[in-house]
Amino acid sequence: MAGIYVHIPFCKKACHYCDFHFTTTQYYRDEIIQQLANEIEQKKNYLSKQTLNTIYFGGGTPSILNEEELRLLLNSIHRNFVVAKNAEITLEANPDDLSMEKLLILKKIGINRLSIGIQSFLDEDLKWMNRAHNAAQAKKAVMNAANAGFNNISIDLIYGLPTSTLADWHTNLALAVILPVQHLSCYCLTVEDNTALHHFIKKGKVSEKKDEVSSEEFLLAHQFLVANNFEHYEISNYGLKNFHSRHNSSYWENEPYLGIGPSAHSYNGISRQWNVANNIQYLNSMKEGKSLFEKEELSCEQQFNEYLMTRLRTTKGISLEYVETVFGKKYSDELHQKISAYESPSHFEIQNNHLHLTTEGMLKLNSIVIEWMADE
Ligand code: SF4
Repeated sequence: MAGIYVHIPFCKKACHYCDFHFTTTQYYRDEIIQQLANEIEQKKNYLSKQTLNTIYFGGGTPSILNEEELRLLLNSIHRNFVVAKNAEITLEANPDDLSMEKLLILKKIGINRLSIGIQSFLDEDLKWMNRAHNAAQAKKAVMNAANAGFNNISIDLIYGLPTSTLADWHTNLALAVILPVQHLSCYCLTVEDNTALHHFIKKGKVSEKKDEVSSEEFLLAHQFLVANNFEHYEISNYGLKNFHSRHNSSYWENEPYLGIGPSAHSYNGISRQWNVANNIQYLNSMKEGKSLFEKEELSCEQQFNEYLMTRLRTTKGISLEYVETVFGKKYSDELHQKISAYESPSHFEIQNNHLHLTTEGMLKLNSIVIEWMADE
């Protein structure tokens, strides 16, 4: 089982909080799209001929692309890889791009899952984030998608906004569950270096929300969504039964994936590599038939730590049997020591020989990761 991720590095507007790799200019767009198709061909052996179970167009804003551009990329994938008949094919989309006409095109070319960047259904929040859409467009995009025949729709929402209250967050969640949405990703706003938000905070124009308030919002999302039949299967992700994201789950299941495009990461079980996060450098190297990336071979210790850190995010948790059989007794003992040395053992639970965080424990994920990594 394997997946492919294609990074589309273009956006209409820069959201104030965003540190993903993108540009708001459309310079070199045609050339970059062509090189993405070329890179797919160039790396056709990376996954050792494994069948693709998932294809994911992320960004940036993939919904900016027109039919011809998307077909070019999909054709390149189908020409160079074996794609499973029931493959999950996701496209990240922004609401302002999702006209009925566009949605019908996406359906026709084979996209079968949409991940819509709603972020909030409230105009004040959207303005504050500098999103390109408004609240009415957000609701309409979801309804249009369902009417166009999409029955696997995910939306992203952001909590922890300094300007919004717990009641506002509840309004967002309540609206989400009455819309035809099968999956939600709820992300806590984080302040990343070199973003507009970081600059506003440094200048004192915006104050960060207190952690306790963001924690309340996290708990509200958990309680409210679980009560509405969404399974909380990863710290930020909720899905109705059988609607967990197969692509993202493969990251947490340690499955190999190939990342295409500037800034995209790839993993094949023994090493990680990441493409240059610069459109011009990406373009120039690809024109010379080379791909510019950095690579790290993973030691056993690193593979063990990655396994712990990714699985700790999931409600499935860390398989104690897997640790013992794949990494050996030394690492199994190390894991047990980490757990017993942690100050609040009640934040962990063991069920069916799997160790996972309790909901309270999920709030402490960052400090657990820091503490466990500091042991190295
Ligand atoms: S649309 Fe998405 S990728 Fe683009 S700036 Fe906004 S959050 Fe970042």
